Amino acid sequence: MSTCLFCEIARRTIPAEVLLENDHVLAFRDIRPVAPTHALVIPKKHVVGIHEATAEDAPLLGHLLGAARDVAEKLGLAAGGYRLVINQGPDAGQSVLHLHCHVMGGRQMAWPPG
Ligand code: 5GP
Ligand code: ZN
Repeated sequence: MSTCLFCEIARRTIPAEVLLENDHVLAFRDIRPVAPTHALVIPKKHVVGIHEATAEDAPLLGHLLGAARDVAEKLGLAAGGYRLVINQGPDAGQSVLHLHCHVMGGRQMAWPPG
C-alpha cells in the first residue's frame, strides 16, 4: 500500500473538503487555490502521473476526466468555462507524485500558461 499524500486523502486519513467521490476517483478543494474555484481530481489507485498510466488505466483516465467535468458543473463553472490541468514531472512543476487533474475557474485564464 502506498502512503503518499493523495493516497492518504483518498483513504480519508488526511482531511480534505471532498466534492465528489465514486469507486474510482475522489475530488476535493485545493488547499492553496490559484483561482477563485480550484479543485483536484485524483484516481483512488496510486498512479504517479499521466505518463505512468498504462493501457489498462484507460477506463480510470476516463473516470478522471468525467469527474473533472462533473465537479466543474457542481461548482458552477459550466457557463463561464474552466481549465483542466495535469502537471507531469519537474518541468511542469508537478509537486505531488500521485496523478491529479486541476479544475480551475472563476476568472479569465491566461494563455500561454506560465
Ligand atoms: P501539482 O503542483 O503537483 O500539479 O499540484 C499539487 C496541488 O496539490 C497543489 O495545487 C497544492 O496546492 C495541492 N495540495 C498540496 N498538498 C495538499 C493538501 O494537503 N491538501 C489539499 N487539498 N491540496 C494539497
Ligand atoms: Zn498515492
